[in-house]
Amino acid sequence: MPITVANEGFKFQSSSNNNSSSSGSSGSRSSSNATSPATPPPTVHHHVNVDLVDAALAAMEVPTGKRTGWQVQSSFLARHTHNMIRGIVESLKMKPNPEKPMIPLSIGDPTIFGNLKASDETMKAVLKAVEGAKFNGYAGSMGHDAARQAIAKYSAHQRPDMEISPNDVVITSGCSAALEMCILALADRGQNVLVPRPGFCLYKTLAEGMNIEIRYYDLLPDQEWRADLKQMESLIDENTAALLINNPGNPCGSVYDADHLKRMIDICERHYLPIIADEIYEHFVFPDVEYVAISSLTHEVPVLTCGGLTKRFLVPGWRTGWVIVHDRKQRLGDAVNGLKNLCGRILGSNTIVQGALPDILVKTPQSYFDGVIELLHSNALMAYRALKKVRGLNPVMPKGAMYMMIGISIEHFPALKDDVHFVQEMVNEQSVFCLPGSCFQCPNFIRIVLTVPAEMIEESCVRIAEFCELHYKKDTRAFIEHSTLLDGSVNF
Ligand SMILES: *Cc1c(COP(=O)(O)O)cnc(C)c1O
Repeated sequence: MPITVANEGFKFQSSSNNNSSSSGSSGSRSSSNATSPATPPPTVHHHVNVDLVDAALAAMEVPTGKRTGWQVQSSFLARHTHNMIRGIVESLKMKPNPEKPMIPLSIGDPTIFGNLKASDETMKAVLKAVEGAKFNGYAGSMGHDAARQAIAKYSAHQRPDMEISPNDVVITSGCSAALEMCILALADRGQNVLVPRPGFCLYKTLAEGMNIEIRYYDLLPDQEWRADLKQMESLIDENTAALLINNPGNPCGSVYDADHLKRMIDICERHYLPIIADEIYEHFVFPDVEYVAISSLTHEVPVLTCGGLTKRFLVPGWRTGWVIVHDRKQRLGDAVNGLKNLCGRILGSNTIVQGALPDILVKTPQSYFDGVIELLHSNALMAYRALKKVRGLNPVMPKGAMYMMIGISIEHFPALKDDVHFVQEMVNEQSVFCLPGSCFQCPNFIRIVLTVPAEMIEESCVRIAEFCELHYKKDTRAFIEHSTLLDGSVNF
């Protein structure tokens, strides 16, 4: 695809469907360029034809004429909202082996096995908020001031040289709602957002229903899951509304260094593209790995950073997340107001946790976080070392977050069609359940979670190895070539 860059500078306007103060413009980015005093009105070649889209939708889906009976229909949004993981998992024909207890390495909820608990400080803070009875009412739509102040302080690393104001913080119902708000604040239907592949499938779920296109940039397994920057850049066109990055990342456990992040920033700077940074795993890095907030590396490119309590404080059910706006040169224009307008739709996250937030963020000791990282790192090492030895598997050692991706050389498993089939049969024979990489747009990988108790990792690795040994068939040619090199022990 040719690169056609029609953006003339950072002149953002929030998406039209959310912007009540828009003065009758269609809300596409082209019209915002057209109102620039410095440049003559551009041609319409990069205009999203919203009217055409509307006409097509109307023709396709909206019943006309007087009703003569019940014609209730679900909305376009409802019909186009899909959970990819559920779709694939429900298609599996699974019957766990009754002789082996089930080991689910698929569940993204770290609290489920009871080995990882919220800190005492976190629990006490909430009890205090309940007992004080001061947090039963509505908060402002962006959240309580004290909570936003606390988040601003807690997030100081995101721009160490300039204080974050509580006005730059919006509290949301989990990081999911933060991501939704950012995507909807920046992109209109017909526009596109660049997201990682493999990547968290919520991005697609959120965008698709709004008719916002998702374009995948590839993460490269043999380069520690760094992004293919050339391919990333080639995806950008005049309708690209944002680059979404996820660092540290799910499902790969990738963590990017400052150099790689700066290269992404360079691309965004050249194409006048804001960044949505999903940093729900901030600080979640293994020993000797550094986490760098992408917002700390640029003054030029606006960054909306999404975070929350969910993963680091191990309370996914509490639905507490946030967006932090980093826009040093006011390039987001009214998209910032758009973001704030969007808060009015559901009035934020629950107020009990907001009341507890200042204590949660300040009082949870570093030793608590260190303990969680230690457990994850030791599980990662154990699984990596065990699975590295298994013929046909290629685990990629993660640098952070809670997951590991394992490549499958599917050509060596002639009885297994693909990653989905591999996962299904591993449940049926060994009662070990991983998620197929296809759930993350990454076929021929599987993802395991590292938050389970160590004994489960150990036992599951034994079973995975047994499963692979049973189904592995050598490719004779490859076997001969490698066996001369590797003295008979072949690890593909
Ligand atoms: C878990 C997760 C989220 C969502 O977090 P919630 O706060 O539960 O909404 C967002 N992004 C990624 C990459 C995640 O893994």
